[in-house]
Amino acid sequence: MVADQFADVREPSPPLIELEQVTKVYRSGKLEVAALRGIDLHVARGEYVAVTGSSGSGKSTLMHIIGCLDVPTSGRYRLAGQDVSALSEAELADVRNRRIGFMFQQFNLLGSMTALRNVELPLVYTGIPRVQRRERALTALERVGLADRVEHRPGELSGGQQQRVALARALVGDPDVLLADEPTGNQDSAAAMEVAQLLESLHVAGKTIVLITHEQDVASFAERTVRVRDGLVVELEASAQ
Ligand code: ADP
Ligand code: MG
Repeated sequence: MVADQFADVREPSPPLIELEQVTKVYRSGKLEVAALRGIDLHVARGEYVAVTGSSGSGKSTLMHIIGCLDVPTSGRYRLAGQDVSALSEAELADVRNRRIGFMFQQFNLLGSMTALRNVELPLVYTGIPRVQRRERALTALERVGLADRVEHRPGELSGGQQQRVALARALVGDPDVLLADEPTGNQDSAAAMEVAQLLESLHVAGKTIVLITHEQDVASFAERTVRVRDGLVVELEASAQ
């Protein structure tokens, strides 16, 4: 037993995200689009990686696969050591709920609900009692600087504030990884920088982040930038800070 424990200590922990030769082919009728053509990508726990690339290069497809919204056509994807390449819809949903926090360009907030209720929503399906849900949602909203806006509805908030509500909602379940697809795409540059700085502070606090963006100044906050072109990773570089 003791020897095993020491062996475990020496064993390097596997990457949180491990993609090996991942491809994705979309088929609609007779038309086939090879959106990903063999992606190898590892992301360690606690890393902050930016994914850049021009429109149509395959970034969102890659995010869908990393986020277990979709499965690869071929290749292997391990998330936290679990092979998730060929899970059923229900199994994927379970992995998503437990491990992934999403942020999209469109905030996808429910307009009729307050910021607090929007952030609470992902917890409703987890069986966490109402009082605790509320508490955690409040903490998440404080974390993104919106403690004084919890009773506002999305329509009563600026775009930047709405995106911060979406960030709080992504964080409320304490996911292993935060996935953000162009979260600053619809923002003016001041709001974009606010979101970028919040992501940076989450990274410093230990959160694993994969951020898709075509904005170089937003990408420059990440430790590492992965460039996607025509469905392939063409460059891996340390960000120029
Ligand atoms: P990006 O996010 O970098 O703009 P996408 O991953 O959205 O790129 O798209 C990559 C390629 O796959 C594009 O050629 C796009 O038209 C195609 N594509 C994306 N989603 C679908 C889909 N659901 N069905 C068919 N083709 C798709
Ligand atoms: Mg996209």
